[in-house]
Amino acid sequence: MFRRGLLYLSESHGAKKLLTGTPLTRTMSLRFVPGETVDDLIGAVREANGQGLKVTANYLGEAVTNRQQAQAAADTYLEVLDRIDREGLDAGVSLKFTQMGQDIDDAFLRENLGRVLQRADDAGIFVRFDMEGSAYVQRTLDAFETLWRDGWRNIGVVLQAYLKRTAGDVARMNELGARVRLCKGAYREPPEVAVQEMGAIRRNFVELMQVLLREGVRPGIATHDERLVDATLRFVRREGIDPGRFEFQMLYGVRRDLQQRLVEQGYAVRVYVPFGEKWYPYLMRRLAERPENVAFMVESMVKDSPLGVLFGSSAPGAGPDRTRDGARSRSRGSGGSHG
Ligand SMILES: Cc1cc2nc3c(=O)[nH]c(=O)nc-3n(C[C@H](O)[C@H](O)[C@H](O)COP(=O)(O)OP(=O)(O)OC[C@H]3O[C@@H](n4cnc5c(N)ncnc54)[C@H](O)[C@@H]3O)c2cc1C
Repeated sequence: MFRRGLLYLSESHGAKKLLTGTPLTRTMSLRFVPGETVDDLIGAVREANGQGLKVTANYLGEAVTNRQQAQAAADTYLEVLDRIDREGLDAGVSLKFTQMGQDIDDAFLRENLGRVLQRADDAGIFVRFDMEGSAYVQRTLDAFETLWRDGWRNIGVVLQAYLKRTAGDVARMNELGARVRLCKGAYREPPEVAVQEMGAIRRNFVELMQVLLREGVRPGIATHDERLVDATLRFVRREGIDPGRFEFQMLYGVRRDLQQRLVEQGYAVRVYVPFGEKWYPYLMRRLAERPENVAFMVESMVKDSPLGVLFGSSAPGAGPDRTRDGARSRSRGSGGSHG
């Protein structure tokens, strides 16, 4: 219920206006987003690569309905691709069709996206298309197949285990030979299209993971859920699947301990690093995944308030994942920044 409430807020313009103006929300976002600029992103990529982690970089933004904004998003991706290429970083990019102009028109989308795909292809960089809410799934897969038919091979999609249709989509992507990132799914979906119960989502995930590992092309197993990570490890050991044939994927700022442990065991781990000013819906989806994060946020709000100062509780508090992640929200002061 609480999770659905937060997902509702992620789509609400009123809540967005209210919350993005709050310094604490901005500071909180730094837990999940290293900053707003390309330099902030590149710093985080270098750091991750230094720890043996691969990266997929995401410029935050979705549901763009204005041509200039969609072109500006593509330009930012071109800059990111140049930096990755020039600095020899181990990184790809993740982007959303709706950020590139999917809601504007198809010809514009193809032209805008074509610039990014061409630059990425020239530099040998992989482009992943994130999956959005269920209203976009068919359109996203259609747009993906059009690009595939046009001959692009440096591209891959995301499929969500909570959707009832996903087994069919996995089979189709395996037939094409396209790379899939499998995740649970982060949006508020009705029971007609999505499984609601966590146990059933996990069971779907395990079945789809097994099909992808057996028949797919270098799938990305995207989860921080230890049960699913363990199920994947058991499966690849049992089937004798080479660690070079797949990768784990996790989000920046979440379960760094697990990311590091898998790297030490010889598995490839890719971290999704988002950056940019449009951090609000991304933050709300992350809060919805772990309601303890909200408690941490409220606790920090009280600490920063005159009441907290009065009662002397302004000492740094423990974030919900402090001990496991070693990743606390890095405060930049009250003017802090994509929190
Ligand atoms: C690389 C990557 C790319 C993704 N791309 C997409 C996409 O394109 N479309 C889409 O719909 N979804 C995407 N997601 C989100 C995904 O669908 C889930 O919402 C998200 O991964 C949480 O599910 P989980 O499997 O990690 O398990 P959960 O059961 O949510 O989490 C397991 C454990 O991980 C830790 N954890 C998880 N999330 C958080 C958090 N926010 N803060 C702190 N700790 C946390 C906690 O310890 C928790 O107990 C992506 C996820 C990843 C990792």
